[in-house]
Amino acid sequence: MNADNNTPVNFIENIIEEDIQTGRYGGSVNTRFPPEPNGYLHIGHAKSICLNFGLANKYKGLCNLRFDDTNPIKEEEEYIESIKEDVRWLGFDWGDRMYYASDYFEKLHEFAVKLIREGKAYVDDLTADEIRGHRGTLTEPGRESPYRNRSVEENLELFERMTRGEFRDGERVLRAKIDMSSPNLNMRDPVMYRILHASHHRTGDKWCIYPMYDFTHGQSDSIEGITHSICTLEFEDHRPLYDWFIKALGIYHPRQIEFARLNLTHTVMSKRRLLQLVERGYVNGWDDPRMPTISGLRRRGYTPESIRTFCERIGVAKRDSMVDSAFLEHCLREDLNKRAPRMMAVLKPLKVIIDNYPDELTEELEAVNNPEDPSMGTRKVPFSKFIYIEKEDFLEDPPKKFYRLAPGREVRLRYAYFIKCTDVVKDKVTGEIIEIHCTYDPSTRGGDAPDGRKVKATLHWVSARHAFNAEVRLYDHLFLMDNPMDDRDGLDFLEKVNPGSVEKLISCMLEPALKEVEPGYRCQFERLGYFCADIVDSSENNPVFNRIVPLKDTWAKVQKSQGQ
Ligand code: ATP
Ligand code: MG
Repeated sequence: MNADNNTPVNFIENIIEEDIQTGRYGGSVNTRFPPEPNGYLHIGHAKSICLNFGLANKYKGLCNLRFDDTNPIKEEEEYIESIKEDVRWLGFDWGDRMYYASDYFEKLHEFAVKLIREGKAYVDDLTADEIRGHRGTLTEPGRESPYRNRSVEENLELFERMTRGEFRDGERVLRAKIDMSSPNLNMRDPVMYRILHASHHRTGDKWCIYPMYDFTHGQSDSIEGITHSICTLEFEDHRPLYDWFIKALGIYHPRQIEFARLNLTHTVMSKRRLLQLVERGYVNGWDDPRMPTISGLRRRGYTPESIRTFCERIGVAKRDSMVDSAFLEHCLREDLNKRAPRMMAVLKPLKVIIDNYPDELTEELEAVNNPEDPSMGTRKVPFSKFIYIEKEDFLEDPPKKFYRLAPGREVRLRYAYFIKCTDVVKDKVTGEIIEIHCTYDPSTRGGDAPDGRKVKATLHWVSARHAFNAEVRLYDHLFLMDNPMDDRDGLDFLEKVNPGSVEKLISCMLEPALKEVEPGYRCQFERLGYFCADIVDSSENNPVFNRIVPLKDTWAKVQKSQGQ
């Protein structure tokens, strides 16, 4: 791990430090995060954000935010706003360097004309299908278009007419003249410009031809003076093309470095698929707490710190891999364990009457806010004759290893007293348990018996008279299998959505201190997990809680059993 924050921790930092030493970019390190505004960001993007902004921070450089908005059809303002909010929430700042690839449309057009003039680009009249048909395969070379050898003058004129809007969508394209038999398919005369009579969210109807991503990305990096252009592995095969454009244009040359994208178990990660989940109503919007989007994780209750830690620890590699979602949860627990206050809430209440406790008495018992951090102090929790415990903490006929409450048995109520069950009241018709009766031992106030006797279980509880009712939502994975994209089962990923991925509990009873919390407030409900007051559905004095994660750390357990 990165102990002194100076040693390189991965291959990207090695490359950068080498460049600093050789003075390749005058010692500067400038990066960018380049999302296409066609959806909300997900945890995979968080990895890229942490990497790009993190490198700029570490090497005292700058990181730009650049919207790669070359496709007018799929892009929306809503996405741009959400992306800005997510990057900021993660804790990063692009200063005054927010750019759009569309800022460079004019420049890119000039670049295209320059390549035509030099005989390095031509207008092709083949249809998209025909171009595909001419492309060849990995084992066979492509065939040259019959329009490939048009004169510079003709190309200039046709491109000009394309620009003026004289042709229909798809009628012509501008292609780079490179090599139809290159073993790299990206080099077989790739399309640079296409005709699209569509309004762009920023340039309106100014253009009816739009540059392809491949003719935009590298030049945008160059224009912005990016030194290290960090992208995911699928762009490795595009690098020769980007290099070719940069060289042909004779412009400043950034260095592209590829790393493996993050894949996470039990979810899907591409914006296209996330959009399907949203549009077809499998989830309630991009910020549904089950979504792997940054807005979904935020609403669920994840902290930006835990996501940054996660991204740092998974590191960067050259080979694709799948990270266990239990590790992300582990990072969250580790963070909240240190700083989340402990509170008491009963999700599925069972009424307990303490027969020997005075009817009208309320005691204010002292509870520790966080045993991990004494500086967080204590609070008072009201106790009275009527309390609620979890239904599942009582069994009339307990099996061997059940140590919680049962008839005749004594347990501890956290921060309160020992109680002993004396009677069970059931519904005469259904046989369902309605309430249980107990006695308490006044000498055990605070939770310990002066005679030293032990109990095997400590239960959380709330005072019935003081608690308030709230809705609590429990979440499970959106997909139960590790990799829902594995299609060996012949199913589409949408058919594999976990129907039990959310459980809404409406009769939960919470300790009174939780009533006035702000939306976004996080705490631990003792024994139940970490929870967050939903930022959308909570209202004043009426919080709705999301369970971020249960307490059981399956990741830590796996690590322990592997002796790590
Ligand atoms: P998606 O397939 O989810 O739509 P994308 O790569 O098309 O992702 P972009 O908006 O183009 O999304 O990505 C912005 C940046 O985030 C790019 O540099 C891209 O490489 C990076 N990125 C996207 N997904 C991941 C991922 N899963 N892990 C790491 N980086 C990613
Ligand atoms: Mg993309």
